[in-house]
Amino acid sequence: MRSKIVAGNWKMNKTLPESKKLVKALKKSIKNLPLENTRVIIAPTYVNLQRVSKSTKKSSIEVAAQNMHQADSGAFTGEISAEMLKSIGVELIILGHSERREYFDETDALLAKKVDQALKNKLEVIFCFGEVLEDRKNGNHFKVVENQIKNALFHLSADAWKAIILAYEPVWAIGTGETASPEQAQEMHAFIRSLVAEKYNGDVAKNVSILYGGSVKPANAKEIFSKEDVDGGLIGGAALNADDFVALIEAI
Ligand code: PEP
Repeated sequence: MRSKIVAGNWKMNKTLPESKKLVKALKKSIKNLPLENTRVIIAPTYVNLQRVSKSTKKSSIEVAAQNMHQADSGAFTGEISAEMLKSIGVELIILGHSERREYFDETDALLAKKVDQALKNKLEVIFCFGEVLEDRKNGNHFKVVENQIKNALFHLSADAWKAIILAYEPVWAIGTGETASPEQAQEMHAFIRSLVAEKYNGDVAKNVSILYGGSVKPANAKEIFSKEDVDGGLIGGAALNADDFVALIEAI
């Protein structure tokens, strides 16, 4: 179901004591916030997932993993399976982040397999995509985004989309301090919703949450989140500080 979402991707940040401290601060701050139809999600690193998942169990914070392997199990040194994540209480997975695409060569074809594996294991997927600066400068951004979504998600049934959250993250805005304008975000989100409506139907398009990601901060969040087709944010840097992250939740 479409909802407002603020999701924090901690990337390769926070030791165990630091993770515990941040979770404690978040739990305390959001306890009294009215969170109707608003989901708060955090994605710590693998080693801290179990602890964070356990300590957030009775709170309104949900826990996501940042990556997983596409196979059930086996000889894949250093990898983590969907089943392992489920077994420690993780319910969501971030897939397709631009850093995974860029530094770990994750392709649309691989991501399609990861999406299938996640859904098979009843993990909800936060699927990231977005164009690089050159694509935007050349006016190719709509085509790039269309292909990323089509290649990794359009083989799914309409029903499977109930477990998909989309995250439009223009790569030129991630960790750069440069944000897409609220109008640029809205334009792309509306385009994405129209693509989904065309492929499936209006209901699937209307019900999918589409997050914006890319240097969202307390200073610019309200304006971006106020756009009709922007259902919230996937947050990197500002998710590492409790006050900033809570300000983003308040903004929504
Ligand atoms: C991200 O990595 O998904 C992200 C949006 O990072 P930042 O908020 O730091 O730009």
